[in-house]
Amino acid sequence: MSHETIDATGTLPAEAIDAIERAATSAHRHEELFSDRAANIRQSAVRDVFDISMRPGLVSLAGGSPYLQSLPLERLGATAARIIAEDGLTALQYGTGQGTLELRTQICDVMAAEGILDALPENVVITAGSQSAQDVATKVFCNPGDVVLVEDPTYVGALNTFESYQVQVETVGMDESGLVPELLEAKIAALQLSGKSIKFLYTIPNFNNPSGITLAKERRQQVVDICRKANILVLEDNPYGLLRYSGEPLPPLRADNADDVIYMGSFSKIFAPGLRIGWALVPEHLQRRYYLAAESVTLCPPTLNQMLVSAYLRDYDWKGQIETYRSLYAERCQAMLAALKEFMPAGTTWTTPEGGFFVWVTLPEGLDTYPLLHKAIDAGVVFIPGAAFTPSDEPSNKLRLAFSAVPPEAITEGVRRLAPVLQEAIAA
Ligand code: PMP
Repeated sequence: MSHETIDATGTLPAEAIDAIERAATSAHRHEELFSDRAANIRQSAVRDVFDISMRPGLVSLAGGSPYLQSLPLERLGATAARIIAEDGLTALQYGTGQGTLELRTQICDVMAAEGILDALPENVVITAGSQSAQDVATKVFCNPGDVVLVEDPTYVGALNTFESYQVQVETVGMDESGLVPELLEAKIAALQLSGKSIKFLYTIPNFNNPSGITLAKERRQQVVDICRKANILVLEDNPYGLLRYSGEPLPPLRADNADDVIYMGSFSKIFAPGLRIGWALVPEHLQRRYYLAAESVTLCPPTLNQMLVSAYLRDYDWKGQIETYRSLYAERCQAMLAALKEFMPAGTTWTTPEGGFFVWVTLPEGLDTYPLLHKAIDAGVVFIPGAAFTPSDEPSNKLRLAFSAVPPEAITEGVRRLAPVLQEAIAA
């Protein structure tokens, strides 16, 4: 409620009191109308911290937003204006549910740059970001109580999606080479033995959000083979794949496994997240239902935005822009690793990502990073506590630091501010 509604004596006018009472009784009356599913939609810890991160003077190592300042904004503005002026009746109209043929064809080129060489436009459906592709997959495959396997840790947005469909989310451990195949095999065996129906493994093989860890080359086919043998689909989420700074590029799980992997891509990290354009590359035998479900959610992906992305891929040096992003994020990643080396207290360890946006810091066993967040905010820095990236929300001795949206000097300053907070917790 705004301050203007309170009168000079500090009391509320009668109409305002009436409105509050009406709202309270309506809320009570409608409480029972919520679905069971709605109760499972949890507030994202990342979103919670997002508002705090905007406070002046704070260094936010919390949000993994891409750094858009290096985009050619004026040219893009002119392109958007030209699309509307010259082709507005198409750009502002409904389009096909699967997305424009032109963009689906271009997306096949983007995937070829990733190492998927056999994708055809008819195998692609354009979605409102890859977030929406995850949602459609869960809608199509999961009944309440079905099991979805995820890496521990995994992307908080995917957890929210799975849980909102009342799915049982089960984690599989990772080490520094990513998901551990033996743990995956054991988990599947135990769950199947107890009669559970496992629908898919959701994995982020490149520069996992939040850990920054990459699945080793020799494990990639093994992971798909284990899932294939157990008749479980693989949902491969690869929004960061082209943002590799070091090490050799690795083939996506989808590359040689067209029948067993639904591959999800996005323009959010390599172009602009606000356009909400992502996609799924779907095995042929699953397409009909997947496409129908995608259509039932959005009717069609945004036409103007698809045309803008198409113009960008056609008329701009998009590969050059990815190079620009790569060197920019590589520099920030280096700044973060150097600052961690300089300031972090004894007893902490962290990952060394070969790409993407995140570093994952581990404190000694038994510590919980969640209560440290408030102390960190007082010290002028924000991070995301590790508990956010697990389905259980159990206390975690990990935390995620994002380096994508902050210049190198601020990264150094942020880590310098964080160090004494961690030091104090370790010493206590
Ligand atoms: N997957 C992962 C691993 C992500 O980190 C994100 C965004 N943070 C998404 C999916 C969602 O991306 P999009 O903007 O394409 O919906």
